[in-house]
Amino acid sequence: MIPLHSHSSGRHFLQIPGPTNVPDRVLRAIDNVTIDHRGPEFGVLGKAVLAGMKKVFKTKADVVIYPASGTGAWEAALVNTLSPDDLVLMVETGHFATLWKRMASKLGLKVEFLAGDWRHGIDSAQIGARLKADKDHQIKAVCAVHNETATGVTSNIAALRKAIDSSGHPALLMVDTISSLGSMDYRHDEWGVDVTVAGSQKGLMLPPGLAFNAISAKALAASETAALQRSYWDWKEMLAINPSGYFPYTPATNLLYGLHEALEMLFAEGLDKVFVRHYRFGEATRRAVRAWGLEILCLNPDEYSSALTAVVVPDGHSADAFRKTVLHHFNMSLGQGLSKLSDKVFRIGHLGDLNELTLCGTLAGVEMGLEISGIPHKKGGVQAAMDYLSESSMAALTRAA
Ligand SMILES: *Cc1c(COP(=O)(O)O)cnc(C)c1O
Repeated sequence: MIPLHSHSSGRHFLQIPGPTNVPDRVLRAIDNVTIDHRGPEFGVLGKAVLAGMKKVFKTKADVVIYPASGTGAWEAALVNTLSPDDLVLMVETGHFATLWKRMASKLGLKVEFLAGDWRHGIDSAQIGARLKADKDHQIKAVCAVHNETATGVTSNIAALRKAIDSSGHPALLMVDTISSLGSMDYRHDEWGVDVTVAGSQKGLMLPPGLAFNAISAKALAASETAALQRSYWDWKEMLAINPSGYFPYTPATNLLYGLHEALEMLFAEGLDKVFVRHYRFGEATRRAVRAWGLEILCLNPDEYSSALTAVVVPDGHSADAFRKTVLHHFNMSLGQGLSKLSDKVFRIGHLGDLNELTLCGTLAGVEMGLEISGIPHKKGGVQAAMDYLSESSMAALTRAA
């Protein structure tokens, strides 16, 4: 272990919106001998994790797994489906949408980037109108970030699909679910998504290092003629060997053990319950923020994220100094404001492996940090969250009875 910190007793609270806390069960699973990835045991593991990921994506179509960070899955989605100078429609929902756009430009695509204020999700009507105006179908793909991790704003992908359908436009739909998959409802098949992009270290409760694409038949057909250069990311090589549970190059064997365990945990809890749990934690956090008298960055209540909440720090105060104080006094990491939100917001991650008491501890750390930092606020945020958590859990019990 690199001695970055002196020892602090108790558990570190990793409440950034990814990487998230890795459950002990997953750590134990990863801590196993690395086996021959071409040997007889491996195929069983490979098949099981591929089948499990289809359930999480809610798809019957193909899923591929790369040893990579989420950024690799972004690249795989683009290079497998598009050709140089193809026009792609993207929306500036925040930092991550902006990074994906930059990548598309670097890869030789033309990008039309619809400006956004980093406080709202995607306006489906605007996309529909733009596609309708594109009579000769210059636009080859629409790329959307489902949960913008920089802002805590979620876009409605079902509504986006409807808008694309009613425009009668054939563009592919590609969606980044890196910080939503496994925390918020997501339906690759039902929402007609062509490529879904995901990563391991957020809702899937794993360390960083695995990246995923779910691939529709239409996207697969597009890959036959797509002319962007690709080798490592080529779906074809993966899909040729995956049905036997094997991979064309060395997979991240130990992370796949972890994935197998994480999938068992998600299915044992039940995906619907996992989504309700995240919703409740999001709502409890928002009630705390309102009770403190602080501002939630997301302006549209229909677009609140269940995975994280970005909180605006009052003018004249430093969000980064506040985060430093919380880390120093309470051994808790909160998410920083990214690019243009730098030092203006902090982000509370409430996704992955956590329960009511983890959340209450997190919010208590924030409330005490506000006090120590001299950031103007009212007391009672943690109380508001506790009130909601106890009421909503009783309601759930009553409904079940
Ligand atoms: C974390 C994240 C990424 C980047 O993933 P890496 O694993 O850091 O490459 C991209 N998009 C979203 C929405 C994210 O939350």
